[in-house]
Amino acid sequence: MTVGVVGGGQLGRMLALAGYPLGIDFLFLDPSRDAPAGKVAPVVHGAFTDPHLLKWLTRECEVLTFDWENISVEALREHASRRGARICPPLPALAAAQDRVCEKQLFERLGIPTTRWRAVGSPSQLARALAEVGLPGVLKTRRLGYDGKGQLRVRTREEAHRAFETLGDVPLIYEQWVPFDCEVSIIGARSRRGETVVYPLNGNVHADGILRLTRAPFGPPRWQRTAARHLTRCLEHFRYVGVLTVEFFVHKGRLIANEIAPRVHNSGHWTIEGSCTSQFENHLRAILGLPLGCTRALGHSAMINLIGELAPRERLLACEGLHLHDYGKQPRPGRKVGHCTLVEDSAAKRDRLARRLLATLAPGVRFPRAA
Ligand code: AMP
Repeated sequence: MTVGVVGGGQLGRMLALAGYPLGIDFLFLDPSRDAPAGKVAPVVHGAFTDPHLLKWLTRECEVLTFDWENISVEALREHASRRGARICPPLPALAAAQDRVCEKQLFERLGIPTTRWRAVGSPSQLARALAEVGLPGVLKTRRLGYDGKGQLRVRTREEAHRAFETLGDVPLIYEQWVPFDCEVSIIGARSRRGETVVYPLNGNVHADGILRLTRAPFGPPRWQRTAARHLTRCLEHFRYVGVLTVEFFVHKGRLIANEIAPRVHNSGHWTIEGSCTSQFENHLRAILGLPLGCTRALGHSAMINLIGELAPRERLLACEGLHLHDYGKQPRPGRKVGHCTLVEDSAAKRDRLARRLLATLAPGVRFPRAA
């Protein structure tokens, strides 16, 4: 059986690596000649919206999925789903994740607490948003933002109007700034039969909008229960098939939803070595109608992203127990080029080792206290 994947980045590459032991084949579509998935699977090169390539993928594959969300819902609907191909996760979930306003409306409809927000399309709407939501806040593009791109933090009215000019003539959203104590995310999968599994909660540290560190399992059981309830509500709402992620701020013990990602997620990379079944394998199991795998943690995991360039392989592999993932990307500032994972018997040992590793790999990033 062959899975078609729109997008051949590192997530697609890890999907393929998880699928081969199960006897699954892959075909990727990506415009880039050096897409990370290309080292491990066949890639057809072309635009994500190319009607001929989408139709061809549909013909060749059992099911179509995607490895990032900034792809065209319209092109997939028009050229792939019309021909009877199954596209998982469902396109309405992809559409909601692509627009921060739709995402916020989804949270509100499902009774999931989220930040105060207003849609902003003009200076007068910005003035009203500032009056109704208050300062400080963050002005974000509604679409196409990722890894902190397309968003500016604002503390004063003047800063807000400057941010409005900087972000340009595109639809925006103004959000209240949440002085969060920490950030968490929850990942789960739903199968075609409606079976659902949820992973232990991830504790995430971002710097400059980019994820740097994830620890799991994280936080008290109450956070896990609340996050899992919110995630399940989203899964049921979309009659979702595949892996879904929900990200939250935690403020004074309260979980405030920030965004959803209708795909495998960077904060779940630890599941490759740290869980009975990785998020990548469970995504494949879900979209192919196979039984879902157990999501139990095998220990206390830490995942550190390698940003910009890879530290020398020899130095990384000298750390006992370290699992290295090199995505085979060219170095570039701010680019995710790999990650490494530690799985330890205790949270204390995991934190001791991860703190030391983070200090050498990303000296500017503060290691947080245990939650
Ligand atoms: P996002 O693209 O919305 O995931 O934002 C990237 C990161 O910026 C988040 O993980 C937070 O660290 C920070 N951030 C975004 N929005 C807010 C907000 N409303 N309040 C506080 N921090 C935020």
